[in-house]
Amino acid sequence: MAVPFTLKPLPWAEDALSPTISARTIQFHYHKHHQTYVDTLNKLVSGTRYAGMPLEQVVVATAGGKDANVKQIFNNAAQVWNHDFFWRSLTPKGSAPSGPLKEAIERDFGGTEDLTRQLAEAGKSQFGSGWAWLCSKGGKLSVEKTPNAENPMSQGTNCLLTVDVWEHAYYLDYQNERPRYLEEVLVKLLNWDFAAENLQHESEPVRAAA
Ligand code: MN
Repeated sequence: MAVPFTLKPLPWAEDALSPTISARTIQFHYHKHHQTYVDTLNKLVSGTRYAGMPLEQVVVATAGGKDANVKQIFNNAAQVWNHDFFWRSLTPKGSAPSGPLKEAIERDFGGTEDLTRQLAEAGKSQFGSGWAWLCSKGGKLSVEKTPNAENPMSQGTNCLLTVDVWEHAYYLDYQNERPRYLEEVLVKLLNWDFAAENLQHESEPVRAAA
């Protein structure tokens, strides 16, 4: 019997990001939306070759699939992965980039303000649901956006940070004002230590298959 996928615990208390992201938003976003992706994924993979695979491997193996069932598995697996990654991209502590990450940001964007401006632009211009990402490839940083459940990881691109721009991420706190949500989150909540760890992972010669 394959071990089912589980809802990973949040890295902070549910009210820790308030008022930028309220506890009420986290309650719906994590306990309803994220939980539903986990539950649906478990139903969909039951009895398939994906049952028992590590989550990241399911996302990679189903990306770009043409079969309707495979597409559904991708959508739910990727949404579980994206949300796990999103929660870790946020912190109530407030920090600034330092060390090699800071140097890479200055080299590739000019500075943190320019980078967050580009991330905001990516999130605002994503038509409909999706995600804005800070990525690295061969140590070079880039800003990406993806629709729906898509993510750069499934295309072999290393991810450093992400911001969810689905309406369920901001509607309770900001109604239709996605730009204001992005400006608040990008300035107040980004977890630069998490981004620095992810940048470091890319340069490690052997990455654990997880
Ligand atoms: Mn979401």
